[in-house]
Amino acid sequence: GGVCLKGYSYSADLNKLFCQLAKTCPVQMVVDVAPPQGSVIRATAIYKKSEHVAEVVRRCPHHERTPDGDALAPPAHLIRMEGNSRAVYREDDITYRHSVVVPYEAPQLGAEWTTVLYNFMCNSSCMGGMNRRPILTIITLETHEGQLLGRRSFEVRVCACPGRDRKTEESNFRKDQETKTLGKTPSTTKRSMTKESSSSTPRPEGRRKAKLSASSDEEIYTLQVRGKERYEMLKKINDSLELSDVVPPSDMDRYRQKLFTKGKKEKDGQTPEPKRSKKLMVKDEKSDSD
Ligand SMILES: [Zn+2]
Repeated sequence: GGVCLKGYSYSADLNKLFCQLAKTCPVQMVVDVAPPQGSVIRATAIYKKSEHVAEVVRRCPHHERTPDGDALAPPAHLIRMEGNSRAVYREDDITYRHSVVVPYEAPQLGAEWTTVLYNFMCNSSCMGGMNRRPILTIITLETHEGQLLGRRSFEVRVCACPGRDRKTEESNFRKDQETKTLGKTPSTTKRSMTKESSSSTPRPEGRRKAKLSASSDEEIYTLQVRGKERYEMLKKINDSLELSDVVPPSDMDRYRQKLFTKGKKEKDGQTPEPKRSKKLMVKDEKSDSD
């Protein structure tokens, strides 16, 4: 019983945000290196379980039809940006997934991070919407041209009592871990466990840091491509690969299919080009010799 006053609560152990419907959820964006001018932050929701992942996360019919005074946000979108008139709501051409995009802003002088405010516009339990299916929010940092610079994700549960639910789930999680450690089977590395959860450093209540950085061991290479059309095609493939860690396999298939059909269509009615794929120039910007 009791009244839940807190609008949101973040669990570092679970990497999970618990929040109330339409309440302010501050997410802190930390970057190692300042991204190029014009970079954006995108938030997308996907279903966590593989059996639901192909389905687009959208609001339930009831909430979608209930007017709530936000003229900017399409009524079907679950995630909204609060108090940012520069927010742009998107629907992917291929996957139809919803996302909200804002220009990246550098932290204020002396600050370590930029705070972005999100609202989740349905309860996890909403019938005909999430319907008790867990979701992940994926935050990506992208250049103006759409190149992926960094990403983070966390689970989200939208519920009436975030603080209470967080405590319950955390204690269940701990019990679960204890059982596993005591059990005969050797502890397997669980995917749901984040690096942070193994260290016992306590985090300030309600703080959510989305650290966005491309891993430093990933070298960047430059590919020189002859012809605009071919460039666009290869760029699409590369974009898909970049996304592959974020996007579920079912979406990847759809992207591939689209690429394939497009390639086919363009071939029709045109004289087939001689095979020139060998002529693609691959050039490293960095010298290999040290
Ligand atoms: Zn709803």
